[in-house]
Amino acid sequence: MKNALVLNPRVRRDIQTRTDRILRELGNPEPPLSLDVVRELLRLDRDYFTSDSDGLLKAVVSKLKRGGIQILARPMILFEAVKKFDLRALYLPDRRRIMIDDSIPKPKHRWLEAHEIGHDLLPWHHEMMLGDDSVTPTPSTHDKMEAEANYAAGSLLFFGDRFRDECRQCCANLKNAQKLQKRYGNTITTTLWRMIEYSGEEQPIIGAIGQHPGDIGNGPSFRHLIPSMAFDHNFNIHDPNELILAIRDYCRPNGRGHLGKGEIILSDRYSRRHLFDFETFYNGYDALTIGVHRCALATVVAAC
Ligand SMILES: [Zn+2]
Repeated sequence: MKNALVLNPRVRRDIQTRTDRILRELGNPEPPLSLDVVRELLRLDRDYFTSDSDGLLKAVVSKLKRGGIQILARPMILFEAVKKFDLRALYLPDRRRIMIDDSIPKPKHRWLEAHEIGHDLLPWHHEMMLGDDSVTPTPSTHDKMEAEANYAAGSLLFFGDRFRDECRQCCANLKNAQKLQKRYGNTITTTLWRMIEYSGEEQPIIGAIGQHPGDIGNGPSFRHLIPSMAFDHNFNIHDPNELILAIRDYCRPNGRGHLGKGEIILSDRYSRRHLFDFETFYNGYDALTIGVHRCALATVVAAC
C-alpha cells in the first residue's frame, strides 16, 4: 500500500504556475481538456507498449527499432526502468515521446498521459528520466517526482484553481465528486483524489482506494491512502487494517455503486479522538472511500 506523499505548498504553487501557463496558451478552454491539443502544443508524441510478461520488453524494443533509427540511445536503461519501477507509462524526454502500457484499462490512460506530460513540464525531472547512472533517483526522490508529476496531471486535467474553487463551494463527498467527474471528463478515482487534495488543505480528509471491502481477506487491501494536507499535519493512520475493518463494517458485502456510510473515530497525533464521516463507492475496478472530519469528540460531549 502506498501512502500518497503530500507536497509542500511552495512546490504545489510552482507546479500549478506551469500548468496554468499551458491552459493560458491554449486560450483557457472549457473542460474537459483535450490532451491531444496539449501534446500538440508541447510537441510531444504518444505511443503504446504491451506489458504481457516477456512481451513488454520485446514490444518496446521492436517499437524503438521500428523507425529504422535507434530511438533511445541506451535501450537497456529503459528496460531497467520498466522492470525496476513496474512502469505503466514512460516519458522519454530526449525523444519527446510518451509511452503507455496498452494493457491498462482505457479509462486510466488519460491520467497516465497527463502524468507523463507532468514530467515534461517539470524540467528538474528530465535528467532523472534519461536514466543517467550518476543521477539515478533514489527511491524517495523517485516517490517525490511521481507525486509532483501527479500533482501536475491533476492541475492540468482539473484546470488549476477552477476545480479548487468549485470544490470549496460544495462539500467533499462522493455525490459531488461524481457531478464534477462528468464535467471534467476524468475518472471518479482521479476526481475524488483531487477533491481531497483541494478541499483538504484546511479540512482533515482521508481517502482510500482499494479492492471491494466485501472481498477483503487477511492481507492489506488499500492500494493508496490519500491524506489531505490538514489530515497529514494532524493525523496518522498507524494501522491501515484497523481502518479497513471499520470501513467494512458499514459497507454492504457486494455489488457496485454506493456501498454505505458510517462514522469512524480516529485519533490525532496528540491522541485526541475525532469523529469522521465515511462513505464508500465501488465502480467495478476500485472501492473509493472518503472520510471527512466532522468534529473533535470532546466537542460532542460538551455540546450534549
Ligand atoms: Zn512518473
